[in-house]
Amino acid sequence: MELQLQPLNLPSDQERAFIIAGPCSAETEEQVMTTAKQLAGKGCHIFRAGVWKPRTKPGGFEGHGEPALKWMADVKQETGMLTATEVATPEHVELALKYGIDILWIGARTTANPFAVQAIADALQGTDIPVLVKNPVNPDLELWIGALLRINGAGVQKLGVIHRGFSSYEKKLYRNDPMWQIPIELKRRLPQLPIVCDPSHISGRRDLIASFCQQAMDLAFDGLIIESHCNPDKAWSDASQQVTPEVLDFIVSRLTFRDTSEHTDRLKDLRIEIDELDNELINLLAKRMKICRSIGEYKKENGMTIVQKNRYSEILDKRAAQGSLLGIDMQCVKSIFEHIHEESIRQQMEIINR
Ligand code: PEP
Ligand code: MN
Repeated sequence: MELQLQPLNLPSDQERAFIIAGPCSAETEEQVMTTAKQLAGKGCHIFRAGVWKPRTKPGGFEGHGEPALKWMADVKQETGMLTATEVATPEHVELALKYGIDILWIGARTTANPFAVQAIADALQGTDIPVLVKNPVNPDLELWIGALLRINGAGVQKLGVIHRGFSSYEKKLYRNDPMWQIPIELKRRLPQLPIVCDPSHISGRRDLIASFCQQAMDLAFDGLIIESHCNPDKAWSDASQQVTPEVLDFIVSRLTFRDTSEHTDRLKDLRIEIDELDNELINLLAKRMKICRSIGEYKKENGMTIVQKNRYSEILDKRAAQGSLLGIDMQCVKSIFEHIHEESIRQQMEIINR
């Protein structure tokens, strides 16, 4: 199945990226309008606010629902900004459309549930509103793509994604693990799909937002969605990760937007070199596997086990140390050899069980 896409055509604040900004939640009429006016004053074109808030535990602020949609409509009227909000049920979709919301997003908890996504898709049938699909809370690329296919299947072609990182059990420096390889793989598979980074939910901390924004720009993301509140410390949800419109403007003004065009000759040459090396790497790996298969034959003839633990640790340690001397991270070398080892075991298993 393939996606049928149309460009989002969202207004961009900067040469390259479009920026969606606004509070985590629409709390009061005043907070929404004050924040929106400040953001508009800084040149923002797209205003976000959560009207329905999925909370981990009951008892938190779950959003005002319909009355807050009216505040969003007022923002559009007063500032000319486009508005965006999260939808999680068909009723949300219906109400958001009724109040003229311009962009919808599907939250991470919702993307993880195909029943919920299908119900939203059914409600979107016949509309052409842009929809941004956040990654599911768990690092499952297929589930993310599945959600896109469902929404696209309803005829919505102005589609994009939001990378907001992945939940994990361990507590780390920041809130969600970005696992950049997942959005990068998504970009490889669906190069036409616009991809937006949500540094607020990845970091969970306002002091880390700038660096995640820059990383996203360096990886050629198309846009950013950043939580911004007129009084962040008093926010009713996600207080620690929100920044004032003033700070947001400062962060955005300091971003470096790198050239994403593919034309520079120097780059072309370097890529040719890389391609050659990759070619050699694969050929070398194939040679290595061939030897592993001979070892497999030998082990079979002599009734030996495939995995010989000491040998495996020796390879990992030796190569990790060598890699580190050559400026490659030890963990990286170890994980490369773990994958190589896994494949050689698979090939030896085939021989032994033949
Ligand atoms: C949000 O954008 O405020 C939100 C609830 O995000 P997520 O779905 O990424 O947790
Ligand atoms: Mn939030």
